[in-house]
Amino acid sequence: MALDLLIKNGTIVDGSGAPRHRGDVGVRDGRIVEVGRVDSVAERTIDADGLIVAPGFVDGHTHMDAQVAWDPIGSCSCWHGVTTVVMGNCGFALAPCKPEEREWFARCLTAVEDIPTESMMSGIDWTWETFPEYLAHVERMPKAINYGAYIGHSALRMYVMGKRALDQTATPDDLRRMEAAVEEAIRAGAMGFSSSRSTTHVTPDNTPVPSRIADWTEVDRLVGVMGRLGSGIFQVGPDISGGAAQRAFLARLKRVALESGRPVMFGTIASRQGEDPNPWTYQLDYLDECAAAGATVWGQSGTRSINAIFSLKSYLPFDVLPAWRELRRLPLAEQKARLADPATRKVLVAEEARMKPRDNVFQGGGAATTDPRRPDYDNLYAMKDVEWNDPTVAELAAARGQHPVEVMIDLSLANDNQVYVQPIVNERPEQILGMLRHPRTLATFSDSGAHVCQEMGSSLQTHMLSYWVRARQAFTLEQAVRKLAHDNAAAWGLADRGVLQPGYRADLVVFDAERVRPAMPTVEADLPGGARRLVQKAEGIAATIVNGEVTLEHGQPTGRRPGVLLRGPGHRA
Ligand SMILES: [Zn+2]
Repeated sequence: MALDLLIKNGTIVDGSGAPRHRGDVGVRDGRIVEVGRVDSVAERTIDADGLIVAPGFVDGHTHMDAQVAWDPIGSCSCWHGVTTVVMGNCGFALAPCKPEEREWFARCLTAVEDIPTESMMSGIDWTWETFPEYLAHVERMPKAINYGAYIGHSALRMYVMGKRALDQTATPDDLRRMEAAVEEAIRAGAMGFSSSRSTTHVTPDNTPVPSRIADWTEVDRLVGVMGRLGSGIFQVGPDISGGAAQRAFLARLKRVALESGRPVMFGTIASRQGEDPNPWTYQLDYLDECAAAGATVWGQSGTRSINAIFSLKSYLPFDVLPAWRELRRLPLAEQKARLADPATRKVLVAEEARMKPRDNVFQGGGAATTDPRRPDYDNLYAMKDVEWNDPTVAELAAARGQHPVEVMIDLSLANDNQVYVQPIVNERPEQILGMLRHPRTLATFSDSGAHVCQEMGSSLQTHMLSYWVRARQAFTLEQAVRKLAHDNAAAWGLADRGVLQPGYRADLVVFDAERVRPAMPTVEADLPGGARRLVQKAEGIAATIVNGEVTLEHGQPTGRRPGVLLRGPGHRA
């Protein structure tokens, strides 16, 4: 029988960790049917001579919930070899949601994840109320990658409790209704239930998001539903405020994992922020202790620092200052003309001294742009390429004999795409390496779809391949592909994805191991309603294949939309 697609002469890295081998890959009806020497005729053949052929990557921590409505290709993840994402993380979701609360939900996502409200109100056709109806909406949307989704605690709490969710303990009746909704969601195919206890997660009114109001009994009850059903993952945005609070959070989380018997996931990070931060290795030891006690707990890690990103075209740390605010409202060309004027510059530089002093409060990337402290110029880098080896603004200021603000003005005038990165967590490469090497962490924390103009983590897969494999040789290509594909697919129970072997779904990525890397991030006004976001593409990826169809060729979308909604193992038809 003829094949739909044949990838010839590639070097296969199959995701199992086994050594690479030369071979062909035959695809029919969305599945891999032959691997090795394949002579069958095919409707389409791709010559992969000199290229790696690997299973497509899985990213389990994204916030594509809103974007899936207007972006069929699944950017920016799709540009980095990702073929499957899980959304609805950290308790934020667009379902369940009553029609009268849509705008409030949208504003919440704006406050926490920097997804513009106007994009959500104009770019989404809100046809759902319940979680199963939302899944049906995702299923209907044209998609070039696969999506799984959690039911989010903050959304669920608002749905059941209304505004009481913002400051009250759930009543027995509230709890029963929330339990029923979690059961309904798991039965409909939710990947699990997500929540957050992170102090950086606040509403538009700067109050804690609903999931943070919930007591632990409520968490026990809702995760307990998944325990009874024997299905579903509990993902939680961790308490990162500081020493004792984080330790208490982790200890209580261990009880949830043990009592429910369900897999638990949270983001592992290294931070100097907050009062008395625990050493980052504390979380890794904790993962081992949980395993020893019989719990399944995964740490989610990125592959580089999580950064607040600044540029002339998006945010600068000084935008909150009165003289800056006035200037920043002008069209870009006018801003540049004023920035070049010596008298104006003098005022702008002097104003920086009025910024809030630095303190120990843990700030996420969002707060760094909307509620900034005076920058630590030793921890603010002028990005020159993607090699993670950029000069700090302080170094440039010393070398040029200029004030740091003048350095940033000059660099931005010379190149209005100049990007500045301020690591929020995971500042040192060795911290990330320690986390990535730990057997109970997953390389999967892009936050794709969120913080659209403030952070850019979507390049985590190409950064892994270019930086950790090629430049640092800390992982072999086989180990890296295994982490990005198989390990994540297995952790989320995607039994027929993440490995390049006959019988598996044909999600594939074909790339040049010597050239693959992230491109530089840029600011583009391509959201519904014309709002801005950071965009980061990649180089060196020849083709991306989802369910047997080529979706991207050399970074260009083919127009094919073979992506599907993935229903979790608890799904009952
Ligand atoms: Zn998140």
